[in-house]
Amino acid sequence: MAETLIDSDVDFDAEGKQTGFLRLPHSVHRSAYGWIPIPIVTIRNGAGPTALLIAGNHGDEYEGQVALTKLCRELTPDDIRGRLIILTMANYPAALAGLRTSPIDAGNLNRAFPGDPLGTPTQAMAHFIEEVLMPLCDYFFDFHSGGSSLVYPATLLRARGNTPEETKKLVALQRAFDAPYAWVYDTEGRGTTARTASGAAGRKGVTTIMTELGGSGTVTPAILALTERGIKRLLESIGMLPGYRPDAPKGTRELQAAGTLHAYDVGVFEPFHELGGEVEAGGPAGAIHRPEEPWREPSIVRFEHGGMILAKRIPGRVERGDCLYQIGRDLE
Ligand SMILES: [Zn+2]
Repeated sequence: MAETLIDSDVDFDAEGKQTGFLRLPHSVHRSAYGWIPIPIVTIRNGAGPTALLIAGNHGDEYEGQVALTKLCRELTPDDIRGRLIILTMANYPAALAGLRTSPIDAGNLNRAFPGDPLGTPTQAMAHFIEEVLMPLCDYFFDFHSGGSSLVYPATLLRARGNTPEETKKLVALQRAFDAPYAWVYDTEGRGTTARTASGAAGRKGVTTIMTELGGSGTVTPAILALTERGIKRLLESIGMLPGYRPDAPKGTRELQAAGTLHAYDVGVFEPFHELGGEVEAGGPAGAIHRPEEPWREPSIVRFEHGGMILAKRIPGRVERGDCLYQIGRDLE
């Protein structure tokens, strides 16, 4: 096992269902010799693949946290083939606070890989995931959403794949999850220096997909139902949930990133378009108003890229540099 200061309540080699905490040492004013309790559940039943499922990589993204929490309670070892490892609050301090980043060290876990075993709590957790958990895994599924500042339709994210074989595997996972949209990005592969959990999976040769499921800092019944169905379909597709009978797929529209539109002014954003809308480059995207000086003309923001609105900003107040929209176009 890689060098780490994090102790685990669960034995990754043991059969059956185990629940407990990863204990991340954190000695602070109110708690000498204390540790941060990162919840973990493992379910193992004989031979089969190992899959790591995580939510709360960003603490204010709740769809995955709820879906994985329900899964932890529902599944028994009899349901499973292989080994399932579940983290419902991967960046625990952030998830506990309902924030994207950790209030302890301001760490964004999904920008902290490959991490540092002797670094801040967020860096130590990134290192544990990359160096202790990833090497155990065949599959890594990381459930994100738009969080507090963005909203997406239910979208699966996957790489294009470096080889036809890898692409086939990723497309099979995409079909299994059966979200209305897939966002396909260029593969980084084993040599990647990406700071994300997907980058960590790439470095370790672990097959990975992630999601952007809704957002707005809340959970909706429709997206949660799609998420729970998608997770079971994923596990069934890799042979880990043999008793599950998936229903007929509804189909996925494959997109690639066209571009991101940012605010170049400060004020209150009035969007002119809704999620899923088709827009043209140069067309009006919205207005940034200045209620502080209501006699001033608003600045009109124009789309830099045409395509479909894949993500939209939630908070009304914007600063220069804030993301207003992400635009996708059909995959080439
Ligand atoms: Zn996220």
